[in-house]
Amino acid sequence: MNKKIAVIKGDGIGPEIVTEAMKVLDKVAAKFGHTFEYDQLLLGGCSIDAYGEPLTDETIARCKASDAVLMGSIGGDTNTSPWYKLPANLRPEAGLLKIRKELGLFANLRPCLLYPQLSGACPLKEEISAKGFDMLIMRELTGGLYFGARKTEEVDGVMTAVDTLSYNENEIRRIAIKAFEVAMKRRKKVTSVDKANVLDSSRLWRKVVNEVSKDYPEVTLEHMLVDNSAMQLVRDPAQFDVMVTENMFGDILSDEASMITGSIGMLPSASMNETKLGLYEPSGGSAPDIAGQNKANPIATILSAAMMLRYSFDMTEEADAVEAAVEKALDDGLRTGDIMAEGCVKLSCSEMGTAIADRI
Ligand code: NAD
Repeated sequence: MNKKIAVIKGDGIGPEIVTEAMKVLDKVAAKFGHTFEYDQLLLGGCSIDAYGEPLTDETIARCKASDAVLMGSIGGDTNTSPWYKLPANLRPEAGLLKIRKELGLFANLRPCLLYPQLSGACPLKEEISAKGFDMLIMRELTGGLYFGARKTEEVDGVMTAVDTLSYNENEIRRIAIKAFEVAMKRRKKVTSVDKANVLDSSRLWRKVVNEVSKDYPEVTLEHMLVDNSAMQLVRDPAQFDVMVTENMFGDILSDEASMITGSIGMLPSASMNETKLGLYEPSGGSAPDIAGQNKANPIATILSAAMMLRYSFDMTEEADAVEAAVEKALDDGLRTGDIMAEGCVKLSCSEMGTAIADRI
């Protein structure tokens, strides 16, 4: 298969970690007989330096003309970088928000997987972490409270602020479909999280999710209230496969879920629209404190590339091979500094990329 990938290395550790993901993709191409064509583009601080703006129309057009976008990270040190002296709409993050909007990315997928080899980094009790867990949180990204009408005004002499939480059935249906589609590629269980005992938007959410579930008889569906979900995530995370929820609940729960894995350098993410086009990036930022030192952990970006193979290209066997190679490297005691443990071998960013590519 021939696929065109828009590659945005970005700022800080971005170029280092994306280079390693490309090394792994090249190995996949050679092994499975594919051709991956890379279109390297600038976004964020590096685009500001080159073109005076964080995202150009040309970059948007070339991302849209690709089969998927693979990205490193955007931004610099917010205290010292001159990028943060610019007006808000010209800063690195403005480019990130704009590309998500331009590509219509409404579903954010964050797998949270605790590798048994790294269970020591999990802050939960050993009896819970020993079981390991492998879940994926799907957060609605373009609706709800963060995008609803808001105002702050004086009402009868008292300052009053209002935010609006609104979802229509189409917005709910498209993310529910995505959740069931993803569950079909995993352990076939969906937990839909809402607050249906209080909120109208949640009652509509639950009704539409129930309707969509009829098209996926193989997938088990359960509904869970958001407060209970927050507790269950730390009590028994192994019970979850795909958790789907609205924007704000997903924002909070996905950070909670990331935290219990214990390592930001291991967590991939994907943002998708209604087509196969997705944007794949590590959950962490540009880590300016370690940029340029060949110290960063490239695994989150390599696993993001595996998600791209699985969800944008339907290359299941290839994605499995990348994920297995990561596990094998961990099994072999190979670690970057952020996940280093006693008795293991410490590798640089590029050495880890090579070690994983060699295990495919
Ligand atoms: P950060 O995630 O960049 O760093 C937090 C800590 O985690 C640092 O100690 C860093 O060294 C470490 N870390 C992160 N990724 C790592 C990796 N792959 N390997 C080893 N260690 C890693 O968060 P921050 O410091 O709050 O933000 C730095 C910059 O990144 C800011 O400009 C912020 O806006 C930006 N940011 C970008 C994205 C994105 O591109 N999607 C996401 C979050 C933050």
